[in-house]
Amino acid sequence: MSSPADTHAHPPDYDVIVIGGGPAGSTVAALLAMKGRRALVLEKSKHPRFHIGESLLPRNVPIFRKLGVLDQVRAVGVEKKGADFSVPGEARHTVFDFARALHPDEPSAFQVTRSEFDKILLDNARAKGAEIRERTEVLDFRTAPDRATVTVKPVDGEGASEELNARYLIDASGRDTFVSAKLGLKARDPRHNSAAVFNHFSGVPRRDGEEAGNISIYWFEHGWFWMIPLDDDRMSVGMVSTPEYLKSRDGSLGDFLLQSFKRCPNVDRRMSGARPLDETRAAGNFSYRARRIFGERYLMVGDAYAFIDPVFSSGVFIAMQSAEYAADAVDTCLAEPKKAGRVLAGYQRRVDRGISGFSWFIYRFMDPAMRFLFMNPSQRFGLQAAVISVLSGDVYGRTRLWPRLVLFRLTYATVRLLNGLGIGPGKQLN
Ligand SMILES: Cc1cc2nc3c(=O)[nH]c(=O)nc-3n(C[C@H](O)[C@H](O)[C@H](O)COP(=O)(O)OP(=O)(O)OC[C@H]3O[C@@H](n4cnc5c(N)ncnc54)[C@H](O)[C@@H]3O)c2cc1C
Repeated sequence: MSSPADTHAHPPDYDVIVIGGGPAGSTVAALLAMKGRRALVLEKSKHPRFHIGESLLPRNVPIFRKLGVLDQVRAVGVEKKGADFSVPGEARHTVFDFARALHPDEPSAFQVTRSEFDKILLDNARAKGAEIRERTEVLDFRTAPDRATVTVKPVDGEGASEELNARYLIDASGRDTFVSAKLGLKARDPRHNSAAVFNHFSGVPRRDGEEAGNISIYWFEHGWFWMIPLDDDRMSVGMVSTPEYLKSRDGSLGDFLLQSFKRCPNVDRRMSGARPLDETRAAGNFSYRARRIFGERYLMVGDAYAFIDPVFSSGVFIAMQSAEYAADAVDTCLAEPKKAGRVLAGYQRRVDRGISGFSWFIYRFMDPAMRFLFMNPSQRFGLQAAVISVLSGDVYGRTRLWPRLVLFRLTYATVRLLNGLGIGPGKQLN
């Protein structure tokens, strides 16, 4: 990426340029500005703008506190105390209540409308001292030993393109994966290939009492559905399925989603009085990871690095947690350049650790053995508490989970073996 001609005499304009003002970009920019660093965020859209990904995790809350936005998020959010799971053919659901995690110091999270939530975070980055340019798209980048340079252009076509440079470039461009796509680093995850269809609805009943703000997850033969309660009687409802099932549609996306509800009686019943509020949207083929998270003068945060299936609502939390780690890493690199290689390798390890914590469960989520264990959670040996800790986002080593998770994996392997022999409790759904 670099050539000697790129090394200039004058210092770079910024300490850090961030591509993208989603949760990852706003968080890393705010935290670096709070450390006294000159940060610029380049965002091609204008907030508020629609985004999918509305269900947050309890471990998000300490980051909100650190950023100073907890009260603002609480004001726009619905309190989420846990997650519930259902299978077709059984009217009951099982509840995974965050207050029963092994280390339940944050017993709830929030469901948020992303346009509002993302605007809070971006405005906060500005208030903390970061410079924000919206409607500004990054078109290209290059790096040199002492800087990264981006080419940017206003999105509305007025104004010429210009070059800006910084000591580090942070790619927070989300699923656009700006840097990893340009460098050919993006690798699809062959073990998790799915697609999603979703909309907001009114007239969908909530769970009772304390469970009213919970996310509901329903398995069905081709994947799973989510229901996320938002404010004003809105419910975000989506289906994640195999791409093959999605390809089987012959009408509009909206009709396909409505017809798919009928394949899952529990969902169909709950949606019987529902009315769509918006256009039905889709996201395809969605799990990937870049082959590395950093290189000469650049690093990635959030979805710009990796995306995993959203069944455990982990995306925004991983984005913000990786942003917090990235802010610390870049701050050290700026202060002590000789340490950069070691610090950034450590950053990669921390981010990968969190992703692996969720992925083990995600890869097996459609297996009848996993479904059985979620529908019949064991309180023995703290097994359910350990799983709830993972679902809370406690996957970065704060709590010693692994002895219980090893036991959970052994239980899973046993149920799977028994299913394979035809004498186990799990069943296929078709
Ligand atoms: C179907 C589905 C359901 C999901 N459900 C959940 C959920 O319930 N809970 C959850 O936590 N997560 C969920 N997610 C994941 C969540 O949406 C993401 O993980 C999260 O938004 C990542 O944040 P980010 O800041 O990395 O990226 P983003 O939020 O995507 O932000 C990236 C920003 O970069 C900007 N940008 C991109 N390219 C450029 C460019 N060249 N120049 C300037 N700006 C640029 C974009 O406009 C955007 O604003 C879901 C995802 C999908 C697909």
